[in-house]
Amino acid sequence: MNYQTEPITMWFDRRLVLRMSPIHGIGTFATHDIDAGELLMLVTGGLIVRAEDRQPDKLQLAAEMYNQETLAENVFIVTPKLFHYYINHSCEPNAIDISRCANSTQYVALRQIRANEEVTADYYDETTLEVCLCKSPRCRWSIVSH
Ligand SMILES: [Zn+2]
Repeated sequence: MNYQTEPITMWFDRRLVLRMSPIHGIGTFATHDIDAGELLMLVTGGLIVRAEDRQPDKLQLAAEMYNQETLAENVFIVTPKLFHYYINHSCEPNAIDISRCANSTQYVALRQIRANEEVTADYYDETTLEVCLCKSPRCRWSIVSH
């Protein structure tokens, strides 16, 4: 076995829940008001795997249960999918990931987040983002009509 585990730390504010999202699939929502600047969640570490480990006779992780980030070519870090995975994109977000490395996630509230509001971030991921449904007047992904 040539993969290893970095110690995993996961902390989530207790005012966060997962619900069906009008933006996309499942989203992270606030149950109570959250002030600007408050830490929402912190995830560091994970299981480090290489492409060659992902063979059928070696390591098999259920894709729907784990979030995978790329550390280097053919090297990935994997954590269980929780709130940090279910942050939807918005062009006018209320949260930001202030971590500086691929094996860490640290979302902070950009402004006050109201009870029952969805937590969103302005990450750029054109591989999964097809059409933006954030409904912001400043949406960069608006469909141009023919
Ligand atoms: Zn948008």
